[in-house]
Amino acid sequence: MATTKYSRQRASIIEYLKNTSSHPTADTVYMHVKQVYPNISLGTVYRNLNLLAELGEAKKISIPGESDRFDGRTDNHYHVICNKCGCVTDLEFPMEQVKEVNHLADDHYTGEILSHETIFYGLCPDCSKEKNTN
Ligand code: ZN
Ligand code: MN
Repeated sequence: MATTKYSRQRASIIEYLKNTSSHPTADTVYMHVKQVYPNISLGTVYRNLNLLAELGEAKKISIPGESDRFDGRTDNHYHVICNKCGCVTDLEFPMEQVKEVNHLADDHYTGEILSHETIFYGLCPDCSKEKNTN
């Protein structure tokens, strides 16, 4: 199949995601991709983001009560959401400790725990600094 307008649009979406650590919402991705493809719709961006997540080329971060965020980083890692400014940042956590959480849960479950999904909430370094100087 030839390179279509649609696959170029998708490539531009994944490129934007791979080059940001801001974990953008579909709206933010749309605002950036629109600068290159002025006729692209928010629906198309959203469909492509979900497709990329299904294909494993991106990650969808579902936050209860908030818009989905998207991540170009697909390896296993945790996220922290700032209660004040809403920023989403990566939390580096040693893989052995991640597995330990599964083992701990498994100890309390009669079935079998295979994985878990956790979002941490807190104050980002900037908001934490601000709080402590005020
Ligand atoms: Zn913050
Ligand atoms: Mn991330």
